[in-house]
Amino acid sequence: MPDNNHLHNELSDSVNPAYHQKPGKLNSAKEYADGIQKGNRAFLSRAITLIESTKNEYRELGYSILEKCYDSTGNSIRIGITGVPGVGKSTFIEKFGTYLIGQGKKVAVLTIDPSSSVTKGSILGDKTRMETLAVQENAFIRPTPTAGALGGVAGKTREVILLCEAAGFDTIIVETVGVGQSEISVKTMVDFFLLLMLAGAGDELQGIKRGIMETADLVIINKADGQNIENANRARSDYQHALSLFPPHPSGWKTPVQTASSIKNYGINEAWEVIKEYYEQVNGSGYFINNRREQLVYWLHEAIESELKTRFFSQPNVRKKLAQLENEVLSGSMNPARAASELIKLSR
Ligand code: GDP
Repeated sequence: MPDNNHLHNELSDSVNPAYHQKPGKLNSAKEYADGIQKGNRAFLSRAITLIESTKNEYRELGYSILEKCYDSTGNSIRIGITGVPGVGKSTFIEKFGTYLIGQGKKVAVLTIDPSSSVTKGSILGDKTRMETLAVQENAFIRPTPTAGALGGVAGKTREVILLCEAAGFDTIIVETVGVGQSEISVKTMVDFFLLLMLAGAGDELQGIKRGIMETADLVIINKADGQNIENANRARSDYQHALSLFPPHPSGWKTPVQTASSIKNYGINEAWEVIKEYYEQVNGSGYFINNRREQLVYWLHEAIESELKTRFFSQPNVRKKLAQLENEVLSGSMNPARAASELIKLSR
């Protein structure tokens, strides 16, 4: 059993720096699992920290917890929300989440912050986000910075989704910043993908890769208020037209384009109506289950890759040799492919 000091030290440096919480006493996997399934949020938080840990022993404990909760996972609708910084994601999620709680839902919001591992900067920033939602008893908000990228851009979000489901959250919102790879990865772990956009913000696709728009299940032209209403309506028909030119979704779903304003509380319940309609359609057709099954196989492959990488790079001899090989590659005395093969030979 790993000791608390280690976990605490680790928390203060590489793991989830946006979430400073003393882990307290470590319990057994069964105690955590029982607590989580009874809705104990402190246990849920700690289990997430363990899953996100860079230390094998903590992660193993995290996985044991997940295994013990596995039967109570899956009972939620998983919604991905993406859009460029400033499009209004956190304001929208605050209103949307609050609305859902009013509808009797339990909402977990997982924000993937693709913090640059180079600059250690954070796109989502340190600003307090979703203050009203955060204090609700039926809401759980958890940032997942991806700096140091455990398991790629989406980190351990997939496992975190499952833990939240085990804790009784029936609506999981995964927020990503639509400027990198994270939204593509998130698409493989959600049932429904919502893209927020702005009207008249210059470049037609606002830095969002064309592929993302193609995979959206709902496009919302946000900030449709004040003088922006007309622009938003125009953008809505433009985007609706653009979408009609894309190939049909494998689910048979036709992606609607709506307008919304979080500050005017407009378009929020309409978004939920679309999601409900989608759910009914794909559940009836069998697509929902099939999609989740395909995602499971994808997750398996991703998990293998991620675990291999973590184990490989955590070996001290590999780390040491890597620094030396980098220099040799830079000086031109060795080519990268050869260096990689030397390094892999070293690993256990
Ligand atoms: P994020 O970076 O995508 O999470 O965007 P935020 O939710 O932080 O919003 C960015 C800015 O847009 C903030 O100043 C918000 O107050 C503003 N904003 C958010 N939603 C709306 C809206 O519906 N209408 C208008 N006019 N401003 C909004």
